[in-house]
Amino acid sequence: MRKELEKYFRTEKLPHIWCPGCSHGILTGAVIRAIDNLKLDQKKICIVSGIGCSSRAPGYMNFYTLHTTHGRALAFATGIKLANPDLKVIVLTGDGDCAAIGGNHFIHAARRNIDITTVVFNNNIYGMTSGQYSPMTPRGAYATTAPYGNIDRSFDLCKLAQSAGATYVARGTVYHIPQLIKLIEKALQHKGFSFVDAVSICPTYFGRKNKMASPVKMMEFIRDASIPIKSAEKLSKEELAGKIVIGEFYEEQAPEYTEEYAKVIEKVREGN
Ligand code: SF4
Ligand code: MG
Repeated sequence: MRKELEKYFRTEKLPHIWCPGCSHGILTGAVIRAIDNLKLDQKKICIVSGIGCSSRAPGYMNFYTLHTTHGRALAFATGIKLANPDLKVIVLTGDGDCAAIGGNHFIHAARRNIDITTVVFNNNIYGMTSGQYSPMTPRGAYATTAPYGNIDRSFDLCKLAQSAGATYVARGTVYHIPQLIKLIEKALQHKGFSFVDAVSICPTYFGRKNKMASPVKMMEFIRDASIPIKSAEKLSKEELAGKIVIGEFYEEQAPEYTEEYAKVIEKVREGN
């Protein structure tokens, strides 16, 4: 374990800043395990993040990494991938960073089917800025900015990704780690825009505001609310309310953006 720690983490940057019981360490570990299981070349990986608690993860990881501005990780990642298509580019983002401030970048990266893997650390709240509701906060849940309960409807990020054009879409949770690692592995192997919604916990803000006094209670909530996609298909919309549907939602092969872009460059060179 010590060997893996030294190989994949910048140990001089540890200990991390995350609160006790936060699941961001579990998710960072899941990404590392997926990379290790696939034996990917560490020197050919670039991990990009925006702003937020989850976006601190690349700072601890021993790869090429870039910590960018709020919501813009996918814009930076697009530039990196176009400049060097041989790199495996991974975006680690939070639900606020990805679905609100970076919502447009998310939609258009999916639409272009650029070969980037995005893993959203989805804890249903803005953690770093002290618990404001995000587009993933469920209706009726409490947040610093929703003391009487959130009245906004939340996104289903997997449906959004698929309808925008992502060609691999899956959801896992921090309670189901072996499955989540497999989903991230599949995403990393996929050519095109791959997306994994990783449902996670913020005990400090979402937990406290929503009467889940401990990280264990939050994990139990995720365990009890989760349902595999095969079982979910048999349920009505009403029966699915409040459930976390997990598994693979979508996979297809489609033209990839950097390859299409290379063809345009070739045409320009040939003068056609
Ligand atoms: Fe984790 Fe929430 Fe603490 Fe941020 S505020 S480190 S998301 S527990
Ligand atoms: Mg969040």
